[in-house]
Amino acid sequence: MPAFDRLDPLSLDDLLTPDEVAVRDSVRSMLTQQVQPHVAQWFEAGQVAAPRELFREFGKLGLLGMHLEGYTLPGMSSVDYGLACVELEACDSGVRSMVSVQGSLAMYAIWRWASEEEKQRWLPGMGTGEIVGCFGLTEPDHGSDPGSMRTTVRRVGDDWVLDGTKMWISNGTFADVAVVWAQTDEGIRGFAVPTDTPGFTAREIKHKMSLRASATAELVLEGVRLPDSARFPEVRGLKGPLSCLTEARFGIVWGSMGAARSSYEAALDYARTREQFGRPIGGFQLTQAKLADMCLELHKGLLLALHLGRRKDDVGLTTEQVSFGKLNNVREALEICRTSRTILGANGISLEYPVIRHMNNLESVLTYEGTVEMHQLILGQALTGESAFS
Ligand code: FAD
Repeated sequence: MPAFDRLDPLSLDDLLTPDEVAVRDSVRSMLTQQVQPHVAQWFEAGQVAAPRELFREFGKLGLLGMHLEGYTLPGMSSVDYGLACVELEACDSGVRSMVSVQGSLAMYAIWRWASEEEKQRWLPGMGTGEIVGCFGLTEPDHGSDPGSMRTTVRRVGDDWVLDGTKMWISNGTFADVAVVWAQTDEGIRGFAVPTDTPGFTAREIKHKMSLRASATAELVLEGVRLPDSARFPEVRGLKGPLSCLTEARFGIVWGSMGAARSSYEAALDYARTREQFGRPIGGFQLTQAKLADMCLELHKGLLLALHLGRRKDDVGLTTEQVSFGKLNNVREALEICRTSRTILGANGISLEYPVIRHMNNLESVLTYEGTVEMHQLILGQALTGESAFS
């Protein structure tokens, strides 16, 4: 009989191939050496020390556009990508967001929708981390309802001219290319915008209490003139941006469980060593109930992520299946972090431990890539046949 492993109680490692374990371990090893020792300080300072250098390191490891094929990109499986997201977010949700925005939003948008010329121009450099991308969909007054966006693009001669404001844009302060979605007379269209184009400015959003190890920007577009080649030629309407969000949400299904794992392991460790009333707090039934419930939700969440990853690689996922995973796993991850925080008592609010950082970060993860309510409405519509969005 194999022994019970308290860090892998369902023996989920046995469901991975040796190659998948190797991918996970190499990502974990790089992060342990190069990111983990600094990330709490980055969070406290509200900025990553050398983000472009970090992008190049991620590029060397094949983490950028990891699951995309061609253009010298790694072409790994969805499960490989998911396993990397777990490790990245076990470090910090902001660090995972840097990689997700680059690979699943900016690169995916270009890979899926841009002209061949633009793919050749941007994708190889984005894969190595020499070129950084961001993804501008949200606006100050239009978040959950992007179809009502106010950013416009109009035809001027052979060119296109963009005007508007995008808000809460990750990587926006230092990106080289921004994927921007804008209204035309014939519906929403996407553009790859070099950020050195006259009329493009990015302003850092400060005073965040969450995702502090990730730069977030407001993008202002004032008469940004682009050649027709910058336009995504085929796609119109919300189909374009939503296809990218589905990719990024898939990474979050996995990544959120990394933040949960890190918090749970910190709480488990603390419960076994911290003594009150003359015994380890892990010996009290109330603490054990918390640990047992966290253990269930963490490993159920990982199992769900693996199931969705295998299915994505085999036959693809429906948007509802991705919503199922994002809704469940982020909500449960946040609950695990909050419960872990109680186990650490006063130490739970200190950045000496990872728990409060993960907890605060997950408040952003709960909101971006579709809020809890949006995913409930997506599932609600699929279950009842009735749309309750408006
Ligand atoms: P709103 O849409 O105003 O929603 C406010 C509340 O109302 C929510 O609880 C929502 O669920 C609820 N609500 C809205 N409509 C309904 C309804 N019909 N029924 C019930 N409840 C409803 N965006 C990008 O484009 N690119 C990025 O890189 C990016 N990075 C981000 C990074 C961070 C740190 C954060 C916090 C956000 C980021 N976002 C980004 C924006 C994010 O996607 C939006 O915040 C999100 O879509 C929600 O929009 P909102 O904040 O405008 O909230």
